[in-house]
Amino acid sequence: ASKLAHLIERFEQPEAGDEPVEGEELDAAAIRAAIAERRIEPFFQPQVTFTNGQLISVEALARLRGEDGEIVCPNRFIGVAEREGLIDAITEAVLVQACEWKRRWVREGLHSKVAVNMSMRNLGRVDAADRYLGIVRDCGVDPREVVLELTESSVMEEAASSLHVLARLRLKGFGLSIDDFGTGYSSLSQLSQIPFTELKVDRSLVSGSPRHPRKRAVIEASLDLARKLNLGVVAEGVETVDEWQMLAELGCTYAQGYLIGKPTAGAELPDAIARWRRPER
Ligand code: C2E
Ligand code: MG
Ligand code: MG
Ligand code: MG
Repeated sequence: ASKLAHLIERFEQPEAGDEPVEGEELDAAAIRAAIAERRIEPFFQPQVTFTNGQLISVEALARLRGEDGEIVCPNRFIGVAEREGLIDAITEAVLVQACEWKRRWVREGLHSKVAVNMSMRNLGRVDAADRYLGIVRDCGVDPREVVLELTESSVMEEAASSLHVLARLRLKGFGLSIDDFGTGYSSLSQLSQIPFTELKVDRSLVSGSPRHPRKRAVIEASLDLARKLNLGVVAEGVETVDEWQMLAELGCTYAQGYLIGKPTAGAELPDAIARWRRPER
């Protein structure tokens, strides 16, 4: 593990991070209004297996619909919501809608888990695990069909206090995923104490990895670690066939990224999946 800690380092580069921040952060009042008016909605991005390209899960990504109908990306409101005590309402709105969509897709013959992003702030209350369990069950969804994603960096900062909440969520069947792996300050001992089921290799590592031996080395080390901890591995931000092929050869389990599909509205997901074809060898 110490060799790994050494390998896992930050890759800071202009392309790292998520969608470019278009515009400034919203203010708390605007976010409060959007919550009250139900203008928070998830888009969905598919995750597929490398082996046969089959849909396995969809990640719910929060969007805020502005008053003029424009779509606002999460980097303009999640941080504010966390600071202003609004993140529980957002997580709940995303989780409920993700479960509702999941049930609708099943009726259309599309079977998929759903993955929802959580903030550590969501886990602060002692009854947090039972609240989320209640929400999912009220929607008629089995918690084993739901994966909760937590960013590596947030977990490392606060794990001790929320460890029991995470353990209880896992006990109740939720999958637990380490998001943006490779960008946080990894404490491997801490990682081993949380009952994670999955690791998501960050896009900054995946991007350009076929031409970047050091990124490839970190991905390989992450896959090794995942195998030893019995975790599934999702590669984030797969954009090219070269990336797909390299990751497949390395034995990565799941792919997510623009190559497979961009985040889309729930109503459009079945068509988007139907259009998707696994790259030929
Ligand atoms: P994330 O969980 O790592 O989600 C992946 C982000 O990468 C998404 O941006 C997605 O649109 C983008 N992405 C996926 N594939 C590709 C690709 O191939 N190329 C490129 N260039 N980008 C790709 P998005 O939707 O803007 O979300 C940004 C971040 O906001 C998420 O990162 C997540 O940390 C956070 N977030 C989103 N929804 C929620 C939520 O409901 N609650 C919380 N707490 N955070 C959320
Ligand atoms: Mg995520
Ligand atoms: Mg991620
Ligand atoms: Mg990311």
